[in-house]
Amino acid sequence: MVCFCFLVDQTKKVKQSKPVAGSCSRCGGGASVADMITQTRFCFVPFYWKSWKAIMCTFCGAMLKSYR
Ligand SMILES: [Zn+2]
Repeated sequence: MVCFCFLVDQTKKVKQSKPVAGSCSRCGGGASVADMITQTRFCFVPFYWKSWKAIMCTFCGAMLKSYR
């Protein structure tokens, strides 16, 4: 299992984001809707991508809502 964790990793990237109405429940900062990409790599070779949208806080980075 340790070996498996070592070989496979997942990175989350924000492709683009724009402000939306709403505020963060944690810090009260502004919210933005972000196009996210989750990339899964095996032995550092990307083999799976998934794009999705999420509402994120622009201030603390908290994920307020996600759409899959
Ligand atoms: Zn926040």
